[in-house]
Amino acid sequence: MKNFINEVNIFDILKETQTPSNQSVETIIHKSLELKGLNPAEAALLLNCEDEVILNRIFATARQIKGSIYGNRLVLFAPLYLSNRCINRCLYCGFSQESSNSNQHILSKDEVREETKALIAQGHKRLLLVSAEDQAANIDYLKEVIKTVYETKVGNGAIRRVNVNVAPMEVKDFKTLKSACIGTYQLFQETYHKSTYNKMHLSGPKSDYLKRLHACDDAQTAGIDDVGIGALFGLYDYKFEVLAILLHALHLEERFGVGPHTISIPRIEPAFGSEISNHPPYQVSDRELKKIVAILRLAVPYTGIILSTREKESLRNELFHLGVSQISAGSKTAPGGYSGSGNPPGQFNTSDNRSLTEVVENLATMGFLPSFCTSCYRSGRTGEKFMDLAKPGEIKKLCHPNALLTFEEYLLDHMPKSSQKIKDFLSSELHKIEDPHIRKTTSDYMELLLQGKRDLYL
Ligand code: SAM
Repeated sequence: MKNFINEVNIFDILKETQTPSNQSVETIIHKSLELKGLNPAEAALLLNCEDEVILNRIFATARQIKGSIYGNRLVLFAPLYLSNRCINRCLYCGFSQESSNSNQHILSKDEVREETKALIAQGHKRLLLVSAEDQAANIDYLKEVIKTVYETKVGNGAIRRVNVNVAPMEVKDFKTLKSACIGTYQLFQETYHKSTYNKMHLSGPKSDYLKRLHACDDAQTAGIDDVGIGALFGLYDYKFEVLAILLHALHLEERFGVGPHTISIPRIEPAFGSEISNHPPYQVSDRELKKIVAILRLAVPYTGIILSTREKESLRNELFHLGVSQISAGSKTAPGGYSGSGNPPGQFNTSDNRSLTEVVENLATMGFLPSFCTSCYRSGRTGEKFMDLAKPGEIKKLCHPNALLTFEEYLLDHMPKSSQKIKDFLSSELHKIEDPHIRKTTSDYMELLLQGKRDLYL
């Protein structure tokens, strides 16, 4: 297996762009508005920019790009933790074999059903299954879990898209995962810096850097064409990690014709029994996290950026404007956390502990359109097909109406007493749809939702 993260190259690029002139940064900012993305050297110039005025220009440009591609939509999901029983020893993680607590547990099928019911009752339509790694959380278990999740219903509600964040597996197992109808397979490299990776992962299958680096290739080879990548910020220099993420994206694009569907930007949070999680070696400040999101938005404009409840409400609100397109809400990070059967501690501490309803209400009040849409993958718009529609701007013609329909569904089923302001917001969003045919279909569907129909999408 080849290491396509050329560290020498990354360090050279960072060195060559160490003191960028304002003129060169302005040129890159201007280029990013063509929405064709940036190469690693161009992104490095932005990463090395410390001039406050120019940084604010980068933020403003990220806002502009976010607006033109994603409008005011934000897609919502929740993680469902299946197991905290782990055979790996990762120094930053609360599930590490080393920091193992006495509450180790893997959810049974009945417990998965209870957790799913609790999440459906909140109004969720998209789940991210997350599991620690051990023999019990194998592909047969995952297949059964996914089936259980899709089969679980509460009133009008059901989970319509299951994404998965689990340890790398063999191609044949990825094929089984694909046949279980998952949306995105997501895996974070944690750190792309190999010697840091080796220091952080003491033992267990996860200590194999290359196996992890190639996991998304293996998923793609098995036909899972929406893959998500990311780094755990705080383990190593953030500039290095951002450039490595871009190299990973380029590698996937070159090999499979499509880059990652999403990029996640988790920062280390305090975790039970982990000394390092309390004192990350390369702590990333809020300002730096804003820079990371904005530069990724300029560099890979069509790739979703995922933000979790690790971050506090006020920072999340700022990052939504800078390029984040998907967020978790109401999250619990311990198996059994939603139905009350699970015991803390979770994998790490979360900072935004508001309920889904509180988050949705707050988003709508700020003018963001909460979306529970799952239509792309259910209509076969994944991988290259998705990007072929996204790049010429076609996908947003569908995203906006679908966001609207799923938001209305949420209001009807989970916020029946929503304020007049939110109702007015909903109708003003309908009038934003430019195409008269799409506007009419959306309006008809909205009427049908009022009459009790569900799950309508374009
Ligand atoms: N077994 C899967 C794997 O191999 O990636 C899932 C691992 S874990 C349950 C999911 C993610 O949580 C990790 O990839 C890591 O980035 C993140 N994570 C671990 N410890 C964390 C901490 N202390 N703070 C924030 N995020 C953490």
